[in-house]
Amino acid sequence: MDCIFCKIIAGEIPAVTVLDEEKVFAFMDINPASRGHMLVVPKNHAENIFEISEADLSAVMGAVKRCAGAVKEALGAEGITVLQLNGTASDQLVPHLHVHIMPRWENDGMSVSQWDMGKGDIEELKNMARKIIQHIPVES
Ligand code: AMP
Ligand code: ZN
Repeated sequence: MDCIFCKIIAGEIPAVTVLDEEKVFAFMDINPASRGHMLVVPKNHAENIFEISEADLSAVMGAVKRCAGAVKEALGAEGITVLQLNGTASDQLVPHLHVHIMPRWENDGMSVSQWDMGKGDIEELKNMARKIIQHIPVES
């Protein structure tokens, strides 16, 4: 498979490794958006949140928690942004699921967590919630 993150996991492309476990791999982002920006990925290839198994996603998120705590301690971060994109419409560039861990500092000027807040229409919110609820699968 021609997947850059699978190649990193296989050691075919160099990366600055942070964590190498049975199900999960983590490495420093090559184009960091903030100091200490890293990526956590499943070793089993899955393109996005729709494809990954709950077991693999759970392993990834467990590692995200541990890595977030580690980078906070190591670099003295004041906050951490955790970001995960799915599909080109959400600006996902690399089609192998990855969770960004971005250390943050007060007034660091990063805009990733700033969006225009609209005013919600309660009836529309209720209608959407009704539709969404019908599509939530039962817990496996
Ligand atoms: P996105 O798919 O938009 O969530 O982001 C992809 C991320 O992967 C970007 O932050 C890139 O800088 C990062 N990236 C792409 N190629 C590499 C690589 N070879 N090593 C480390 N990070 C990478
Ligand atoms: Zn892959």
